Amino acid sequence: MENVDYTVSGKALEGRVILVTGAGAGIGKQAALSYAQHGATVILLGRTVTKLEITYDEIEALCAPKPAIIPLDMKGASKQNYIDMAETIEDQFGRLDGVLHNASVLGVISPFDQIDEDTYDDVMQVNVKAQFLMSQALLPLLKKSQDARLVFTTSSVGHVGRAFWGTYAISKFATEGMMQVLADELENTCIKVNAINPGGTRTGMRSKAYPAEDAERLKTPLDIMPLYLYLMSPEGKDIKGQCIDAQPKK
Ligand code: NDP
Repeated sequence: MENVDYTVSGKALEGRVILVTGAGAGIGKQAALSYAQHGATVILLGRTVTKLEITYDEIEALCAPKPAIIPLDMKGASKQNYIDMAETIEDQFGRLDGVLHNASVLGVISPFDQIDEDTYDDVMQVNVKAQFLMSQALLPLLKKSQDARLVFTTSSVGHVGRAFWGTYAISKFATEGMMQVLADELENTCIKVNAINPGGTRTGMRSKAYPAEDAERLKTPLDIMPLYLYLMSPEGKDIKGQCIDAQPKK
């Protein structure tokens, strides 16, 4: 996948309805803006309503299709919350063409023997179980699309374990596993399932993980958007079951 040109047309996502989790900050916020700018109606999901409202206002300022906001804390959300959410989306839009599973938490970077149980549970809840429950609830809606996409977000510590990355790394291995299981299971359906590894990107999570680094040297969320757009667009329709680096090593 490393030599693919990820350019898409300016209106590549016109008419498509796409849900983005963690749409109030970082990569998720930029993905929501970029999807809207390319014509999608974006559903902004996150836990901090004020941040989602800012993303909403920025989308309106682009004269893009009117977005929607779903306030939801994935740490506490139940299976029923996701079923209710799917019903709300069905009532309002009738279908769903894409989901970007982007929201996640870092937890604590620490030696394995110091990972505390509560942190482990919180990270696995947000990064894995919430995505499982959300995907399960949304599959019927995605099946109503002619051409749907389910995109997970992994990390380089999601395919090669790294000392001290603890629960976050374990959760990203699980994310890649979920992507592969679903991609295989849905192989002969209209739903294409993939994962993106953003690579080091200038966001709040990155600065928490690497407080001493010079963030100016990192790519911005906007820099890595071509792949995010491509996997949601008609141009990316043949890609499935892949874990793709947004910043492949040269
Ligand atoms: P940020 O921490 O900047 O943003 C994470 C987003 O997820 C925020 O909008 C946050 O909401 C939301 N979120 C966190 N917890 C919850 C929750 N319980 N319920 C709902 N929403 C929640 O992270 P990034 O933008 O850096 O990361 C985006 C994705 O990319 C993640 O999956 C991350 O693991 C992955 N990634 C990032 C890399 C990087 O270098 N930045 C590298 C590799 C992977 P709020 O703002 O309200 O807290």
